[in-house]
Amino acid sequence: METGKMFIGGEWVASSSGETREVINPYDASVICHVAEGTAEDAEHAIAAAKKAFYEDGWGDTPAYERAALLRSFADEMEANVEKLAKAETLNTGKALIESEYDVYDSANILRYYAGIVTQPTGQTYDLNDPAVHAMTVREPLGVCALIVAWNFPISLAIWKLAPALAAGNAIILKPSEITPLSAILMTEMMEKVGFPKGVVNLVMGAGVTVGNALASSLDVDKVAFTGGIVTGRKIMCAASSNVKGISLELGGKSPNIIFADADFDTAVDYGLYGMFYNQGEVCSAGSRILVEDAIYDRYLEKLIEGAKKIKIGNGFEEGVKMGPVISKQHMEKVLKYIEIGKEEGATVALGGYRMTEPEYEKGYFIAPTIFTDTTPEMRIVQEEIFGPVVVIQKFHGEEEAIQLANNTTYGLAAGIFTSDNAKALRVVKKIRAGITWINTYGPVYPEAPWGGYKQSGIGRELGTYGLDDYTEVKQININTNVCPTGWFE
Ligand code: NDP
Repeated sequence: METGKMFIGGEWVASSSGETREVINPYDASVICHVAEGTAEDAEHAIAAAKKAFYEDGWGDTPAYERAALLRSFADEMEANVEKLAKAETLNTGKALIESEYDVYDSANILRYYAGIVTQPTGQTYDLNDPAVHAMTVREPLGVCALIVAWNFPISLAIWKLAPALAAGNAIILKPSEITPLSAILMTEMMEKVGFPKGVVNLVMGAGVTVGNALASSLDVDKVAFTGGIVTGRKIMCAASSNVKGISLELGGKSPNIIFADADFDTAVDYGLYGMFYNQGEVCSAGSRILVEDAIYDRYLEKLIEGAKKIKIGNGFEEGVKMGPVISKQHMEKVLKYIEIGKEEGATVALGGYRMTEPEYEKGYFIAPTIFTDTTPEMRIVQEEIFGPVVVIQKFHGEEEAIQLANNTTYGLAAGIFTSDNAKALRVVKKIRAGITWINTYGPVYPEAPWGGYKQSGIGRELGTYGLDDYTEVKQININTNVCPTGWFE
């Protein structure tokens, strides 16, 4: 793996500053390797390379069939190297190996999905008031797209963006989080190997404030697609206004998982745990507020605690481990601070609430699965995204209160509803202000279905046909068959 270099204009190059950055394994705080620490100048070079590939070297005119073939080859390459990719991901993020493997297969499916739909019929034709004019629309690529992604799903988040962007015919610059660059390096090597032309795919590493900001504010970038925190999302919106570039933002949430008393009890407990503690709770759509109907509250809480105690926590490489450390020391401190805030606000720690310091965990960034009860809607732990293994429980009575509590945050990414009454489920789901909703399940992601949020959870949609549309412009073409002067000024 080219750990010390970035990929710009088809060449592996060191940072223009010559600087590198340590990559840390969150399981034991050891240094895995050093990677290039890019600069704003490197970002400018990558933008110029992408621009050249798109406008001068013909990538913008490549037939959809050729782009689809490249995406399929890339998918095959990912699957052929599943072990290598998944191991790099687990080493860098601490997540369970089984999760990393799943992300590789899922990403290969997404690449193939976009390879399939990009050759499907598109555009519209119009039956106008003027029969001499034939009007139609076509979709065209935007040009140069900057893809800035976070550290929680480094493989998946990159693929969710680069698959539709490349399928649509754009040239891209990928900037992974500075703390999780390993899988992005491997995937870029694969894209080079399968033959994406020079400059179509560029990889720039480095800090968000320098490299990320240079990409988001560039006059030569046509779109910036971002996944990460809301504070950074706002900065990117401001930076993107430089040339009124397109933006898509995936900014996380504080998603409600609503458990009605008539739900299949064991299923609802299972998904309460899965929806919250998968990937250590570092999931934008985590069901981080479990709303439980009063009639089953005590029994549900008891079983949730019982289940959370059984989660096998440890080294992501160990068989059976389902929860690893949080991503970094800095992030661990942030999550622990939220736990203190929750206590100060008067909530009760029903489980966990501490850093794990037993010998197996002492070097890493482990936080015990934490459950808060006795919460009130205005508490910060109920309102703000904690992004770790910390769930808050809210008690409700009846549909009206469930809806009111569910919608009572500034976020609107996802929501789950557990009930055996389908009519009630649909009534409630239609009142929930969220982009992704699940009834009697929580968490699945489908390549075909759009992903994105209402309110401050973001702008735009990823995946599905919506995700492809967001990487295209719509052009109107009008063909006049009655070729003669208008005579207007005569
Ligand atoms: P950020 O939002 O800061 O980072 C996400 C990406 O944006 C990274 O690649 C980062 O680069 C880059 N970036 C940072 N600042 C800028 C900038 N000014 N201009 C352009 N790009 C920038 O995530 P954090 O890691 O700091 O996490 C903060 C919080 O965000 C978390 O605690 C969590 O609540 C939330 N979060 C939400 C995610 C989601 O899926 N919705 C994912 C991750 C975090 P770099 O890291 O290299 O500095």
